[in-house]
Formats: sequence, C-alpha cells, structure tokens
Amino acid sequence: MERLGCVSVDLDSLHHYCRIHGLPEDTVPADLVYTTALPRFLDLCAQRSVPLTLFAIGEDLAREPAARALGAAHRAGAEIGNHSCRHDYALTRRTREQIHLDVAEGERAIQEVTGQKPAGFRAPGYTLNAALYQALEGRGYRYDSSVFPAAPYWAAKAAVMGGMRLFGRTSRAVLDTPRVLFAPRQPYRPDPAKPYARGGGAVLELPITTASYTRFPFIGTWALTLPAPAARALYRTARAQPFFNFELHGIDLLDEEDGIPRALSRVQRDARVPAARKQARLREVLDWLKDDYRLTTLSEAAETVGRTLDAV
Ligand SMILES: [Zn+2]
Repeated sequence: MERLGCVSVDLDSLHHYCRIHGLPEDTVPADLVYTTALPRFLDLCAQRSVPLTLFAIGEDLAREPAARALGAAHRAGAEIGNHSCRHDYALTRRTREQIHLDVAEGERAIQEVTGQKPAGFRAPGYTLNAALYQALEGRGYRYDSSVFPAAPYWAAKAAVMGGMRLFGRTSRAVLDTPRVLFAPRQPYRPDPAKPYARGGGAVLELPITTASYTRFPFIGTWALTLPAPAARALYRTARAQPFFNFELHGIDLLDEEDGIPRALSRVQRDARVPAARKQARLREVLDWLKDDYRLTTLSEAAETVGRTLDAV
C-alpha cells in the first residue's frame, strides 16, 4: 500500500472545553478557534504545501465569524468534515433518531457554508457505536475517522492533561469499552453491527494514529508540547505504519495571550505553552511527515485506501 499521511484539525470552539471543565461558557471568546487558530493552521499548511482536513461542529457555524472563517478555509482548498452538530459526548447513548438527526444537522450547517456535503465524519470524544456508524452509512459518508486505539492509561492521562475530548462520559466509555483497544490501527472496513471490528461496512474507517508498542496518542496535545526528543521518539515508533493520521485541535495553536482565560488554561494545561513554540513544533512535525508520507486530505486517502482494500 502506498504510504499516505493526513493532517486534520478538529475545530472545537472554546465553549466545548468549558462544558467539559464545568466553567461558565460566556467567559471565553466564542470564535477564537476560528478567527485566530484556523488562519495559523492554514498559513502553516500552505507554507509547507500540506493538504488539510478540518472537522467542524454544526452549532459553531451559527456564529457569523466562524461561518465566514470556515468558508474561507474551504475556498483555500481545505476539506471540511462533519464533527457532529452539538458535540454531544454522549451521542452514542442517544436514540437512533437523535443520532441520525445530529449527524444530519451538522452536515446541513457545513453544507450551508461550503455548498458541499461533507465526505467524512469524526465523532465527538472519539466514540463510535453501531447506531452512529449506520447513520453514516445511511447518509452516504465515504469515511469515518473516530477510532482512537490509545492505551487506556494514556487515554486517561490525555484526558486530564489535554482536558476535553476524552473527559466525562467519553473517558469512561473509552475505559469501559476495551473493544476500541483491539480495533485495527490501520484503515479498515468496519462491521456495521460492531464498528470496532472488521467487516463489510460501506464507510471506511481511518483510525487516528497512536504510537506503536506503547499506544501513546500521537495527537496535537502531545506532539506539540512534549520535549523535542520525546516527540521525535514517539513519531519514530509510529512511522512504521503505512497510513499516518495526525489529529490536532484548534486550541493546539492558541495560548493565554490570544485570550484563553486563566480559568481554562489552569485545567487545559497545553494552553499555557506559547503558541509560537507550538507552531514551530508543528512545522517540524509536518516536515517529518512529508519526508515519510505522501500527504493528502482524508477523503482522498479514503478513496485510495478503499480501492486498495477492496482489490485484495
Ligand atoms: Zn471534538
């Protein structure tokens, strides 16, 4: 299989982090991720000729500055995927109808901004189940990129250190559902009834990359803030994998000087690392990836990988 690499950014606005940490949502600048972090990602990826995939949350796009920034990113060539409508960490606990509606509403909000139906989905909190997978099949998605087979110790640590994504219900779900740890770490066709196992599902799964052996999560939170030798060593263990799916979040390129309030950076510790330092590291990681992989958007990867898998 051709070695393909993808860089994706989940554009979770700061109020989603406040919900996780139980902080009042009106104390954070609503659009900082869209107006400040997103242009940084776009500039850096343009400088390095790296195709970018963005995952947007539907309800964020009701705010005009967010919609405008996403529209500009789309016109600049970024792929826009669906990161659900409300970023409900308990989405997989809802009824089939609620799940379907949330996916459809996120999709509609993106389509209103870009004029295009998203080809890919990423679940809030990385948690997938049969109902969610089948909703994606029903709506004709080409790929999903939610499976994050990090070892539970690291996943829990990431939840504490990085705050957000694995916290609350989700961290419990990840810790309670060891199935995800046995999920394939390379692209696969899921079983629609058990999407963490292989099967014949129409929606290709593109798992998020974790380091080999340790299953340490090589995502932005860590890759941009660990000491350089540690980040490089982790990358070296992961690059044996033919498909590399590097996942980041908008907040990864923000710091306190950008306007992240102290109440949030106290619990979201990576926000205390200066954005300039994280940008410099990201530049470095993109160069490592470019040396080892042909970089594409996730939808292009899904097409290429899907053809290869189906030909076997
Ligand atoms: Zn998210």
